[in-house]
Amino acid sequence: ESDRLDAKLVRSREMYGKAREHLCNGVASSYQLRDPWPIYVDHGEGSRVWDVDGNEYYDFHNGFGAMVQGHANPVIGEAVNKRFAKGTHFALPDEDDFVVAGELSERFGLPKWRYTNSGSESTMDAIRIARAYTHRDPIMKIFGSYHGHHDAVMISIAEDYDKIGDRLHLRSLPYGAGIPAATIPLTVPVPFNDAEALEHRIVEMEGEGNAPACLIMEACLMNMSIVPPEPGYLEAVRDITTRHGMVLIFDEVKTGLTIGPGGATKLFGVRPDMVTMAKALGGGLPMGAIGGTEEVMSVVESGEVYQVGTYSGNPLCVAAARANLEKVLTPDAYDHFDHLNKRLMDGCTEVVHRYGFPGYAVGFGAKGCVTFSPHKIVDYVTFRQGQRSDLNQLCWLYAMNRGVFMTPGREEEWTLSVAHDDKACDAYINAFAEMAHDLMSD
Ligand code: PMP
Repeated sequence: ESDRLDAKLVRSREMYGKAREHLCNGVASSYQLRDPWPIYVDHGEGSRVWDVDGNEYYDFHNGFGAMVQGHANPVIGEAVNKRFAKGTHFALPDEDDFVVAGELSERFGLPKWRYTNSGSESTMDAIRIARAYTHRDPIMKIFGSYHGHHDAVMISIAEDYDKIGDRLHLRSLPYGAGIPAATIPLTVPVPFNDAEALEHRIVEMEGEGNAPACLIMEACLMNMSIVPPEPGYLEAVRDITTRHGMVLIFDEVKTGLTIGPGGATKLFGVRPDMVTMAKALGGGLPMGAIGGTEEVMSVVESGEVYQVGTYSGNPLCVAAARANLEKVLTPDAYDHFDHLNKRLMDGCTEVVHRYGFPGYAVGFGAKGCVTFSPHKIVDYVTFRQGQRSDLNQLCWLYAMNRGVFMTPGREEEWTLSVAHDDKACDAYINAFAEMAHDLMSD
């Protein structure tokens, strides 16, 4: 399958040769790498994308989950073109800014908002706000979770699980080089779906005079397949963080606007003190946001925290976000996602049963995946014990060779858009079925 794919990517290979001259690895971001060379894209339309070799794919990767409105959506196009004609950047507020904040407030139940340009900026600013609000330095995160590429969160993301330490004392491990040694211990990881371990660690940190400012977490993990919260877990986390004077941040960069109209916050019914967003918010343009309670966001309003950025609230991005929220991500869009996701999950589950394949389907709204594990994954340890990266890779190759573009590796596999249809989902299921058939009948 690997050779078959490479043979279709001739022009991409040529481009890679040129691109490498002045662009590190020939790509704009390390997450765009692929062995032996990257796939260069020509264009997208609706649910489909075409590479520079003219290969056509249904796009389930969808720009790492940003493209829920589909490629080249005319509604977004109109909003952006209108805005372009009036000027694209002033670094001054406009009407779209507060209309979008009002809409987000309604959806997430948090009254105060600010904008950024990416998910990383959102989590970076949210953590600073939490630190300022609590007057504390250490922060907590879930072991294995990704929250962007700044120092405070490039900690304890992916490690051999024999290095991670025991459940009650998971270790702070830098993810890649260049993270100052002095900042590493300020980020303390805890296991997902384990409220007892969380409280145990908080009490210990308090005893050492290091009470944590916040817990930043995805309410439903999205980067080790999809791991939902066990019943009662989020409620317990809410209670514990409140009792210990910590800010609870739900990182909704992936979940917000995809798994439901009000993200994980509304879907699971637990209100955090802050949410961070990006990806699907900007209608395909780079835009992030932070929402919070009056109390927590008071440190921004008082001027204690500088929440700033030249391009924050860039008019093109906010105009796209407004059109996206008002005209694209309507209640009908979420019904559409639910219908398609059910089709995908039912189809994949049937394949899993038919071939006795080690895995199960899980999904919400526009997001889903087949988790390649014989047992249920509830946290990083069960993920590492169960995950089959060989199957992930094989599944990706089968899909790519059958015109289905999906996220490689251990990320969640599919993000739907409003332009996806039953035919796209059936192509996905058929590619998966072929792989399961070939693998399980050998
Ligand atoms: N938080 C989460 C949950 C994410 O999944 C990501 C990106 N995958 C980020 C933050 C960082 O977002 P960005 O890549 O836009 O900086």
